[in-house]
Amino acid sequence: RPSIVWFRDDLRLADHPALNAAAEHGAPIIAVYVLDEQSPGIRPLGGAARWWLHGSLTALAASLERLGVPLVLRRGAAGTVITELAASIDAGAVLWNRRYGAAERAVDTAVKTDLRAAGVLAHSFAGSLLFEPWTIMTGAGGSYSVFTPFWRACNAGPPPREPYPAPLALTGWSSAVDSEPLTSWALEPTKPDWAGGLRAAWTPGETAAHELLDAFLRDTLPRYATERDAPAEEATSRLSPHLRWGEISPYQVWHATQKVQRTATGGAAASGIRFLTELGWREFAWHVLFHTPDLATVNLRRDYDAFPWPPLDDRVLSAWQQGRTGFALVDAGMRELWRTGSMHNRVRMVTASFLIKNLLIDWRQGEQWFWDTLVDADSASNPFGWQWVAGSGADAAPYFRVFNPELQAKKFDPNQEYIRQNITEWGTDAYPAPIVDLGETRRAALAAYAAIKRPT
Ligand code: FAD
Repeated sequence: RPSIVWFRDDLRLADHPALNAAAEHGAPIIAVYVLDEQSPGIRPLGGAARWWLHGSLTALAASLERLGVPLVLRRGAAGTVITELAASIDAGAVLWNRRYGAAERAVDTAVKTDLRAAGVLAHSFAGSLLFEPWTIMTGAGGSYSVFTPFWRACNAGPPPREPYPAPLALTGWSSAVDSEPLTSWALEPTKPDWAGGLRAAWTPGETAAHELLDAFLRDTLPRYATERDAPAEEATSRLSPHLRWGEISPYQVWHATQKVQRTATGGAAASGIRFLTELGWREFAWHVLFHTPDLATVNLRRDYDAFPWPPLDDRVLSAWQQGRTGFALVDAGMRELWRTGSMHNRVRMVTASFLIKNLLIDWRQGEQWFWDTLVDADSASNPFGWQWVAGSGADAAPYFRVFNPELQAKKFDPNQEYIRQNITEWGTDAYPAPIVDLGETRRAALAAYAAIKRPT
């Protein structure tokens, strides 16, 4: 009886605990990916994410094929698809790596129950997070809402396990099983094809992820701590979409960095610690999402529910989305996002702060735009980042912190390199005039915040 390995946000072969367990089990393996647009509560993928998924599944299918394992593609409610597939091929086991969103967990729990009731071994593994959200709890038994003690608690326990090596050989299931052609899912845009900039910026897949990590650790890590905030410096790893899709695991990143750390001194050593701390923020975002599943829709701090958002002006929102606000760092970031499907972290903070605190537009509008345009959009880090900037989130920036886009540009892009890379008409009359007055809008936002702090 074959074993099914159900791939989800872990589109890789190395350090894949479920695949590893299937290989050890010894039965012939069949791999499956389900595009689930039907189960209740699963957030439909954004456009940039769909583009990435196409490339990542193509790479995964090719790697599996080299090892003789078929990748079956199906669309539908994942619970039904998996249980029916297991029954149709008389599978002995279904194995997967865990997911941490509420809707995804509900699907997985139901599948597990159904499979076990049918006499099929169903087992899940930890592959996507270093510290599973329910294992890190405060002394009082609650979840963490402040990063530093959270990360301290993570590091107080045993270090993350060593990654599993890539399988050298696998036994594939040889009987034919129906699979939908990937192209029938229309994940890639066609009319119009807006993905040219994404293709130029990124190569989805496990091989590219490891090349990026190796190059980062070899060439860039020593200057990470000092230059990671400067968007023109290319001093960060750019691993986020690869981590999002699980083409590389945090265990692999963690241990590869630790290995470099052991011989690093001075600035390089500080850089390694800083980089691992950023991985810690990814863990924290998932911890917060696990314990507050409606992070993308509900203010973590409920006093923010009373914030008096003015009626939405679509023209102002479009100017922000299209990078036509007249504030160069904001516009450069929004255009980078549209062109490449990504944006530097510092600029994410500046553009988000500008939307919320200078345009007075609800953070959920910005979160949704990022969700649709980021290749790394994930259901934890994106709403977590937005609530952090809004001041309504976990360990968030205080509400009175309003990033001034002009001062941020002077500080982090002093030679306007990043601005010029992204705004071709910069410095000419064609560049739009500012759509708001920074000082006035800042004062209005602070007054609105002050009002909800002192409810009458
Ligand atoms: P590096 O600096 O090289 O960091 C290494 C890894 O650590 C990243 O790949 C990422 O997995 C993780 N990481 C770093 N910073 C953060 C952070 N603040 N929160 C969570 N994880 C972090 N990150 C996403 O992965 N997906 C998102 O949808 C997302 N949305 C964001 C929205 C806003 C408003 C903000 C302010 C931040 C958001 N981030 C998101 C976090 C951060 O901007 C990106 O992870 C980072 O820019 C990715 O670039 P990098 O891989 O070069 O990062």
